[in-house]
Amino acid sequence: MSVNKEVEVMPYDELLELGQKFHGHKCPAMPLGLRAALAAMDKLGVERATDKQLMALIELDDDHCATCFGDGIQVASGCTFGKGNIKKLHYGKWGVTLIDKQSKRAVRVVAKAETMKKNKESEFMQLRASGVPASQIAYEVVKPLIEMVSSAPENSLFNISEVFDYEWQDAPHTFESTVCESCGESVVTRNARVKDGRVVCIPCSGYGR
Ligand SMILES: [Zn+2]
Ligand SMILES: [Zn+2]
Repeated sequence: MSVNKEVEVMPYDELLELGQKFHGHKCPAMPLGLRAALAAMDKLGVERATDKQLMALIELDDDHCATCFGDGIQVASGCTFGKGNIKKLHYGKWGVTLIDKQSKRAVRVVAKAETMKKNKESEFMQLRASGVPASQIAYEVVKPLIEMVSSAPENSLFNISEVFDYEWQDAPHTFESTVCESCGESVVTRNARVKDGRVVCIPCSGYGR
């Protein structure tokens, strides 16, 4: 049996390409997320998480500008929605705390106010604010921003904290599932409900949660 483990130290250009493919369009906030995660990983001396070695606490909220930052964090750090090792703190800020679970150490990286101000004042963001989808904006408009974010020294883009102690406790992980007696679909057992004596999923139960 071969072990499913790929520790890839991807060159930045490849990471940018992967990020753009994953993200769907070319914008400056996704690469800003790449750079933030890379800065945090470098400070902690860790590699991209193949499993759940790292935990990312991102300070973004929903439905505001430059949340594309979160996709850059996922691509560079391997802290992904699917693996469940990324969580939103809903502060509406462009910061990330990256935790190395094994060494129980963390670092916080946050985009400087000046970085976000430059982004906000760019032609790209003016167009975005007026409702133009990022994919509809000419590449020549966004290219200089992507290049700036990609090449600027970390310390000019971000405030990077010192490494600090942080012990992360994973919630218990369940492998138990059952089949809803109403719709016949699989459901994680702890998410099933009992309705009129039958074990059913939340939508079939009619309960809110
Ligand atoms: Zn984007
Ligand atoms: Zn059901």
